[in-house]
Amino acid sequence: MRVLAAEDNPVFQSMLKTMLTKWGYEAVMARDGNEALGILQGENPPRLAVLDWMMPGMDGVEVCRKIRGASREPYIYLLLLTARTESQDLIEGMDAGADDYLTKPFNAHELRVRIRAGRRILDLQEQLLQAREALREQATHDGLTGLWNRTTILEKLEDELARAAREGHAVSVLMVDLDRFKTVNDTFGHLTGDAVLREAGRRMKAVARRYDSVGRYGGEEFLIVLPGCDASQAALQAERLRTALAAEAFLTPAGKMNVTCSIGMACSAGRPPNALVREADEALYQAKELGRNRVVAGALV
Ligand code: GH3
Ligand code: MG
Ligand code: MG
Ligand code: MG
Repeated sequence: MRVLAAEDNPVFQSMLKTMLTKWGYEAVMARDGNEALGILQGENPPRLAVLDWMMPGMDGVEVCRKIRGASREPYIYLLLLTARTESQDLIEGMDAGADDYLTKPFNAHELRVRIRAGRRILDLQEQLLQAREALREQATHDGLTGLWNRTTILEKLEDELARAAREGHAVSVLMVDLDRFKTVNDTFGHLTGDAVLREAGRRMKAVARRYDSVGRYGGEEFLIVLPGCDASQAALQAERLRTALAAEAFLTPAGKMNVTCSIGMACSAGRPPNALVREADEALYQAKELGRNRVVAGALV
């Protein structure tokens, strides 16, 4: 682990460097506050910094203040070294955003355990960030296919419609429903059905453009938002999608099987999201009526 040590006194500087190295850290040295701040605000900074309070140019307290002012992530643990012992000084240092402090001259062993305590805080923080990330992933994605879930894909649609209204471009939606999917479940079981859903999702994602959003709307229904697509572009994209499923048999644990889908398409014309979804849904119903494995455009397209 890299630890930044900022110290203007060359003797203390080399002491700090020797100690940190001996304890197994990679010491990154700074000779004053400006240099320390530059390193901490740069790319991939050390996550823990030992800062001397008194330094020419910018002092350690100011470095703390600047780092905390930027409220960046991941968190940087800041330990101040100070010759000052007054409690008012201590308050100023901690107020500026230091996590801990040590008075000079300090005991090497004490510095070592305080750095270790800082590492524990950083580890905990890392775990918290990961847990938060996992929760966010769970809250926005469908567990089976990894696509956006229903709530999120509808939010994306709403966002894209608002943006389209501001910027004056089109948005299209596709409602995709797997054909005769119940038969897959009934014949091969739900696990195979699940594998087909995952593969269908993967293929749709693969043919989507970078700025398209693909979500699982319901059981075997998918909603795809196509920003910047007018009716003819959306029809092309829908056809590409339909082919991506139909062209090659799906490999499942139960063997190869042919899977097709029907697609209903609707294009924005300043209409609210649910009107657009309803129209795509009605077009989808027609695609089923007309014999499945096809794309049908909504009445208003
Ligand atoms: P159609 O061509 O008219 O769409 O026929 P279909 O059989 O696909 O339509 P239907 O709506 O009758 O059946 C959808 C099936 O999707 C029923 C349900 O058991 C299945 N299904 C929904 N969610 C899941 C899931 O998460 N896993 C599996 N394996 N099946 C699911
Ligand atoms: Mg100093
Ligand atoms: Mg179906
Ligand atoms: Mg369905």
